[in-house]
Amino acid sequence: EGVVRFEDVHFSYDANRRILRGISFEVPAGQTVAIVGPSGAGKSTISRLLFRFYDVGEGRVTIDGQDVREVTQESLRAAIGMVPQDTVLFNDTIAYNIRYGRTSASMDEIKEAADRAQIADFIARLPDGYNSMVGERGLKLSGGEKQRVAIARTILKAPPILILDEATSALDTQTEQSIQAALDVVSRGRTTIVIAHRLSTVINADQIIVLRDGLIAERGTHAELLALD
Ligand code: ADP
Ligand code: ADP
Repeated sequence: EGVVRFEDVHFSYDANRRILRGISFEVPAGQTVAIVGPSGAGKSTISRLLFRFYDVGEGRVTIDGQDVREVTQESLRAAIGMVPQDTVLFNDTIAYNIRYGRTSASMDEIKEAADRAQIADFIARLPDGYNSMVGERGLKLSGGEKQRVAIARTILKAPPILILDEATSALDTQTEQSIQAALDVVSRGRTTIVIAHRLSTVINADQIIVLRDGLIAERGTHAELLALD
């Protein structure tokens, strides 16, 4: 369950510039495929097509053989979890922010997810900037801590498909390592698409796809791609 396929996908945001020019790849159930390439290459566009924020121009995107255009928005949102580049928190406690992906979760389940994402200490607190009505000083979260909230959300939601969009790019090395460990826990056994700038951050992917000028320039394991140099 959770096989993702892009079949000869073409896409443009506007007529002047083609972003994807015939992209085909498969993410087998439970495996991790990394999409690597310079900024502007079209990596995030791939995740937007999977979520159907946009529809493909030509070709198709399927989940378990079904065209995403035939899947309801509710099913897509249930099937796909995302740890975005920049997590936006809403005006409620961290616990409620974690619960966002699965509102039926119990407080014990929220605590367990927070624990695994290493943010158990502050789940009762409010994020910074939202405290004037409550008269309490809000919690200033770093980029890494916000990412942990997104990771806790994803642990709780436990979707079959996971998109990690530059999930550790903004972090210092030490934080990156601890976040990476948490992400490894989340992605284990799930179909995972990792979007990254650098090959060095996706060593463990089952397959790496290098995107260049809207085409797949290279693909292979980390070792295979290094051997190409
Ligand atoms: P990446 O994730 O590889 O950095 P993106 O997929 O975000 O690249 O974007 C690919 C290209 O599409 C970029 O040149 C970007 O400026 C352009 N782009 C992204 N979103 C839009 C949009 N909504 N309208 C027009 N162009 C866009
Ligand atoms: P959830 O699955 O956690 O309920 P949503 O279904 O609302 O979340 O959205 C899925 C994810 O897509 C969110 O994490 C959100 O940050 C991300 N997202 C929203 N807009 C965009 C966009 N334009 N491009 C890429 N990702 C986006």
